[in-house]
Amino acid sequence: EPTVVIVGAGQAGAECAIALRQQGFDGRIVLLGDEGHLPYRRPPLSKAFLSGKSSQDALYIKSESAWDDLAIDCRPDIGVEAIDRGSRTLHLFDGTRIAYDKLVLATGGRTRTLSVPGAEHPNVFCIRTIDDVLALQEEFVPGRRLVIVGGGYIGLEVAAVAVEKGLATTVVEAEARVLPRVGCDLLCDFFAEAHRRRGVELRLGTGVHAFEGEERAEAVVLADGTRLPADLVVVGIGIVPNTELAAAAGLDVSDGIVVDAQTRTSDPDIHAIGDCSYHANAFYGRSMRLESVPNAMEQGRVAAAVLAGKPAEHRAVPWFWSDQYDLKLQMVGLARDAERQVLRGSPEDGAFMVFHMAGDRAIAADAVNRPQEFALARRLVGERIPVQDAQLADTAVALKDLLA
Ligand code: FAD
Repeated sequence: EPTVVIVGAGQAGAECAIALRQQGFDGRIVLLGDEGHLPYRRPPLSKAFLSGKSSQDALYIKSESAWDDLAIDCRPDIGVEAIDRGSRTLHLFDGTRIAYDKLVLATGGRTRTLSVPGAEHPNVFCIRTIDDVLALQEEFVPGRRLVIVGGGYIGLEVAAVAVEKGLATTVVEAEARVLPRVGCDLLCDFFAEAHRRRGVELRLGTGVHAFEGEERAEAVVLADGTRLPADLVVVGIGIVPNTELAAAAGLDVSDGIVVDAQTRTSDPDIHAIGDCSYHANAFYGRSMRLESVPNAMEQGRVAAAVLAGKPAEHRAVPWFWSDQYDLKLQMVGLARDAERQVLRGSPEDGAFMVFHMAGDRAIAADAVNRPQEFALARRLVGERIPVQDAQLADTAVALKDLLA
């Protein structure tokens, strides 16, 4: 009976295993993870789980018995040390081996660390895993002074939870604006203002020089010399894809494990999916690495279909969301090639959209508290439907009428 082994029991690996069964694959499926937790969803880690509104149980994608029912051998406490492609065998950290016919790498990424003095202090935290949040929660107490390094979506989500909980919260961002990697000026200004209004202090355009203190970080010293006293620090400056296993096995690796639109690596028996993959996207006709749940799930499904012998390719338009306070941000498409922006609705009302235009097409769209219109915007972008700026800007024109 053929064996598919999936390395990495995260969002992509779990979806791939489930989708394999849905596709009718009846061979053996082994899902290996190294966190000691059954597969879980990471987005709540910086939102409802951090705030205490959601329990740890609610994070898990399936219960232990549900994995058993699918005949998926889910072993979340066994890391993979090496791939022997010649004998199609994995060497596990517990000293055992496991043979595969097809291998799926879903190893995700690890948090990027700051290489400044004091970064190793015990009150300097990051947020990637359940265990990271459990450690942080002990110090995440009202009245404490929290400095967040990084004004990306994770840093801002943590800031929103923290200030609502009563921590004195400062965000330090090296770039001149928050959400520097993803947002346009309008969106970045809107979120900066939303945080300031609720009491978050923003320090933009300056990096971190050091964490001062003997046994704990007691202050964050910025590149411009400012000294911010701190009881705890959260660093959210992005991730590094886990590509070492693939590279050591001789697979092609660039900014991620290189795969085609069928999720195949340079070895046709090995696939790679999710945050760790530098993948071809057939919609764009080029390759990219993405860090998002929709991408992890979509690639998991494509890999499963291909492994089950069905035609499939990855051509999904990327989309993403972030929740901060009562603000739901949703983004679709790649805005970087946009020629101009069109605003629909008004930021003052706290509900609006920004369309990123190239020629007579919207190539990307951002929505704040506009979930229904966002669903339609995904189709506008994904189906490359021609539209006029004036129609998008006019809230009296229903987006669904533009799709017809
Ligand atoms: P991961 O979920 O990282 O899973 C990879 C797994 O592989 C890990 O458990 C890792 O330990 C394991 N592994 C690695 N190497 C080995 C090995 N050698 N042997 C065995 N196991 C190994 N995305 C959104 O779309 N919306 C959001 O709102 C959002 N919020 C987020 C908030 C936080 C705090 C974080 C951390 C992420 C958030 N994301 C969000 C991103 C999203 O969670 C990731 O894109 C997604 O988890 C990627 O799934 P993955 O399976 O590729 O990787």
